[in-house]
Amino acid sequence: MQSQTAVRQVDRWIDAHKKDLVDLTCRLVSIDTTVPPGLNYPKISQVLARELKELGVTPTVSHIPEATIKKRVSPEVGLKGPRPNTYATLKGEGEGPKILLNGHVDVVPADPSGWTNDPFEPTIRNNQIYGRGAADMKGADACTIFSLKALVETGAKFSGVIIPTFTTDEEVGGYTGVNYLVDKHVITKDINYCISSDSGIEVLHVAALGDAEYVITVKGVAAHSGRGWTGVNAIEVAAGLIEKLKALGQEIGKRRSKIPSEPMYGTKKMRPGLYVNMIKGGLKGNIIPDTCEILVDRRFIPEEKAAIVEKEINTVVREFAKSSPAKVSMKKILGYDPMLTDPNHRLVKVVRKQARKVLGRDTPLAGSQGSTDMAVVTNLGIPVAVLGATRQDSNIHGIDEHVRINDLVSITKILTHSYLELLAFPAR
Ligand SMILES: [Zn+2]
Repeated sequence: MQSQTAVRQVDRWIDAHKKDLVDLTCRLVSIDTTVPPGLNYPKISQVLARELKELGVTPTVSHIPEATIKKRVSPEVGLKGPRPNTYATLKGEGEGPKILLNGHVDVVPADPSGWTNDPFEPTIRNNQIYGRGAADMKGADACTIFSLKALVETGAKFSGVIIPTFTTDEEVGGYTGVNYLVDKHVITKDINYCISSDSGIEVLHVAALGDAEYVITVKGVAAHSGRGWTGVNAIEVAAGLIEKLKALGQEIGKRRSKIPSEPMYGTKKMRPGLYVNMIKGGLKGNIIPDTCEILVDRRFIPEEKAAIVEKEINTVVREFAKSSPAKVSMKKILGYDPMLTDPNHRLVKVVRKQARKVLGRDTPLAGSQGSTDMAVVTNLGIPVAVLGATRQDSNIHGIDEHVRINDLVSITKILTHSYLELLAFPAR
């Protein structure tokens, strides 16, 4: 049990620093870190490193070598420029468990035309911060910083170690963020708990879907449209393949996981899917197109394995190719494994309990219908609990994305309370 005095002190500290928490969120949102390509990463890592320094620790900004990016990330993902990941180690008093904290610094693109204000000029209305990334997840990154400041500034004693990490490229999967820190042995098997705040405040995520994206290229033969029969129309061939993939998608969509889903999406259990989400082809109205590319997004439940998932699509594509006049090839361009933590793990119980105390309501356990880079962490055997500041109406990835200031305060408190219990001093 953590000391009640310490809890009261950190709460008072956090309430008194609400304005600074909002200010840091706004500063992070105002740095446009759109990926692809991954803009202004050095700038945001500088800000975060400076914040970590204020905790009295020496942060590390680790750059992934260009050659490693080339080797590990498909050019289709469109990454450009340096990819610094920022982290630090906070040591408590004496031996104790290790907690990893993770947040991502990148945001998805924003088309300013639909927005009330510029997406990268954060504005505050009705106690909410508007801006691209306010909810997903720069607000939560600020919470992480302030949850640690609350601990340090109030002099709360804790045992063990806390490792905050701020990583790149979560929104485009691939390798350059959390995955790289695993390979670099910054994130190691001996970490006992991981808390990610890349999610919402309504439920506590213990699982997430896996995700694999494939580009399928149909190669036909170009020809003058007036003698169209002399060519092989790649778009028309691709249309037939899309029908086959749609049928597979319908089959997959009937499957269910054992893990409960977020109730608001109309499925009680986590549900997989396969969708054709992009198509590219054709050069001009009077040319038979020789190339058509389609992008397939496959979301899979923790019960499905990545290799089987790929084989399933591959079988459909190969079968189709056999009787097709065009050449058909398939390439995986990005992938996440599903994430899964034992719902009975102590970490999950502690975070849920602390959330209930702060919010005055339960955060039911659920699997996310999204995908997360946290899967590489659970793959190491480290349990991950995911609770963040977004809500169903935050419109993440959409127009006028926003986060409630009160939720930022709550998440900051839940984080600090969880450290105080998990890293109770003296160690249990
Ligand atoms: Zn996110």
